[in-house]
Amino acid sequence: MKTKQFAEKEIWFVTGSQHLYGPETLKKVAANSQEIAGFLNDSEHSPVSIIFKPVLTNPNSIRELFMQANHNDSCIGIITWMHTFSPSKMWIAGLKMINKPILHLHTQYNRDLPWGEIDMDFMNLNQAAHGDREHGYIYSRMRKNRKVVAGYWKEENVQSRLGIWMRAALAWDDLQNCKIARIGDNMREVAVTEGDKVEAQIQFGYSVNTFGIGDLVQYVEAVGQSDINDLLAVYDAQYILSTDIQKDGVKRKKLADAAKIELGMRNFLKAGNFKAFTTTFEDLHGLTQLPGLAVQRLMADGYGFGGEGDWKTSALVRALKTMAAGLKGGTSFMEDYTYHLHPSGAMVLGAHMLEVCESIASEKPRLEMHPLGIGGKDDPARLIFGVQQGPAINLSCIDMGDRFRFILNDVDVIDAPERLPKLPVAHAVWIPKPNLQIASESWIYAGGAHHTVFSQALNSEYIRDFAEIASTELVVIDSKTQVSDLKNELKWNDIYYSFRK
Ligand code: MN
Repeated sequence: MKTKQFAEKEIWFVTGSQHLYGPETLKKVAANSQEIAGFLNDSEHSPVSIIFKPVLTNPNSIRELFMQANHNDSCIGIITWMHTFSPSKMWIAGLKMINKPILHLHTQYNRDLPWGEIDMDFMNLNQAAHGDREHGYIYSRMRKNRKVVAGYWKEENVQSRLGIWMRAALAWDDLQNCKIARIGDNMREVAVTEGDKVEAQIQFGYSVNTFGIGDLVQYVEAVGQSDINDLLAVYDAQYILSTDIQKDGVKRKKLADAAKIELGMRNFLKAGNFKAFTTTFEDLHGLTQLPGLAVQRLMADGYGFGGEGDWKTSALVRALKTMAAGLKGGTSFMEDYTYHLHPSGAMVLGAHMLEVCESIASEKPRLEMHPLGIGGKDDPARLIFGVQQGPAINLSCIDMGDRFRFILNDVDVIDAPERLPKLPVAHAVWIPKPNLQIASESWIYAGGAHHTVFSQALNSEYIRDFAEIASTELVVIDSKTQVSDLKNELKWNDIYYSFRK
């Protein structure tokens, strides 16, 4: 299904051939390709339009098309397919310059061979089996990152895997002009939330710039009472409010403060055209409470967020929210908070001080105000909820000094074994794959952060595609992981990435 948010974005479908076959065959190649492109465009798995491009048969037309793609802001990626044989030296000039994500589709127009009818005309037309091998060679020879998808084009699995890549390409496109506002610096003395912002911009496209808390406070102070009243009405309608913050409740005024902060933050982010942001509890001068509810609701609207100045995770939240747009299941900033180490089943209780996105809520959130030991401010408002059981991923991004590394863990969210009546924050309970011991040892060897992006809408294939496009190391911890293998992988990666530069 096309995602409205990305209505102006498109994928170009490019078929390669050559003049050797004569005009009749080339006409058939074009007609077949157009049919495939149209079919894939109509697939419910395609979040954006797939545009058929004329069949390419010589070096100049290939170079020209790729040049156009580079300069076309709507084009977020290219699918290539060799219906017939297209000598790959013709592609070198184009591939040298292309800077959009590439997917090499290895399919065939005919699903079944008409055994009794096959003649040399048929053989000449249906040559992807060797045409795509020639095509794959030149990508490999030129060390071009791409996704290869093999299979019959009408198969659900093929469409779904194309759709996953398209979503990764969308996230990549979105990051290229993504501005992140870092409100205050990171939490003092913390290492993993630091990083090289210049290198991140070179590698991922997004920019991170710091703003003093006063820049935000200005916007908060400018919020009018009628806007606050309107937002309070939204809270009343959307959440289950504790008695003390309901209309005429003793703390209603404090909830109005939270609404004022939310409106100020919205206006600040809108005015600066920011797609993501960070806050830190160590710099709240001029705010009456730590923005909890505001951050939760902004994340639900698609903003990236990282706590304690964690701009890398903020960017990643934004990227994964873009990938997941319109899909079932939510995506949130998350933190591995505390463990249940019972021998019958070790698990993680994930949460944050306040800032978990309501897109992952399994129930209507409760809105409450409770004291927060950290920050020394008024009791902050926050949404409290649990999370639906089912598969999910946790993803971290760290700066290794010479490169960035993604670390992903497949997890199974479960219902909490018991109620948590005294826990005043949103939370999720999960069992990491293959189990907590192997997953946490692996995560720690890999240097993964306590902060992650948690998503129930995405799986590891989205992240593999995204890492490929971003040309970034990805360490996956899943049901097959063994610590000894993973330690070797980390060592080999160190060598690979130091040679690659
Ligand atoms: Mn944190």
